[in-house]
Amino acid sequence: MAPTPISGLFRLRKWHETATLPREVVIEPTTKCDLECPTCLHKAIPSTRKGKDMGFDGFKRILDGIPTLEQVVMSGLGEPLQNPEVLRMCTEAHLRGLRTKLITNGMKISEENAFDIVFSFDFIEISFNVATIPAVDILLSEQPSLGTDGRLIVSVLGTPENLRILPVVQSTLAKKGVRCVHVTLENWYPEGSPSHQELREMVLKASGGMVKKRFGRCHWPFSCAFITCEGEVTPCTARMDPSRISFGNAFETPFWAIWDSEPYRSFRKDHLRFSFNMVCQGCPLE
Ligand code: SF4
Ligand code: SF4
Repeated sequence: MAPTPISGLFRLRKWHETATLPREVVIEPTTKCDLECPTCLHKAIPSTRKGKDMGFDGFKRILDGIPTLEQVVMSGLGEPLQNPEVLRMCTEAHLRGLRTKLITNGMKISEENAFDIVFSFDFIEISFNVATIPAVDILLSEQPSLGTDGRLIVSVLGTPENLRILPVVQSTLAKKGVRCVHVTLENWYPEGSPSHQELREMVLKASGGMVKKRFGRCHWPFSCAFITCEGEVTPCTARMDPSRISFGNAFETPFWAIWDSEPYRSFRKDHLRFSFNMVCQGCPLE
């Protein structure tokens, strides 16, 4: 029988539900952090998750479960450089032919560790704060072409205060050959938590009252995932709290099995049908 447009759509939908394994995942090396950014969920993480590091063996188990992987992004509810094993993890990733990316607050970048950081991470993104310019200068003195090679960028979160100084930051960094990107401020807090309304107002102010919903147009369930330092697999960096959602533990179950599990498929189905689920409601704001 010749395929009809409906049956073609059905097959496409099925294909998406069983999405191919991702080429990139975001891994949280630690929940330790030396800053308390007002827009970050870090201060709200439960005591059971505070001060934890991912172990090297757990990291290897994650990589073992994703044969399609091409890039590992080190980021999460903590500063990745606070994990003493993070550079060893990069070496392991490189030995497997993977690229590594660091998203850092820059606080722990020093002349002593600059060489190791430049050597260990293929891409470095410094999230703007008071330590950014010194950290950029230290890394550039180790490898002057980092910015022009596209390996080092600075991201500025679009809070109302940051947006006021953004042009100055951008021109300062441009003189050093480093690109500075503006990251849209999003409301990471779940609805009902005390900080949600406060951040909601900040997001509305920064966006001029226009906030785009992401639900239904989101690539995360089909192409990437977030893995906490305890190995819990959540759908994205907007939902990093495993007590809210976890598809499984990648230390205990191979990632490929979690990715193909019924809860993950059903989550993708929700996206394809634009049907709301409790997890994505509120992303990024409404
Ligand atoms: S540096 Fe990063 S993890 Fe730490 S509080 Fe700020 S945004 Fe959160
Ligand atoms: S919460 Fe849902 S819609 Fe938002 S980024 Fe995550 S998967 Fe996408």
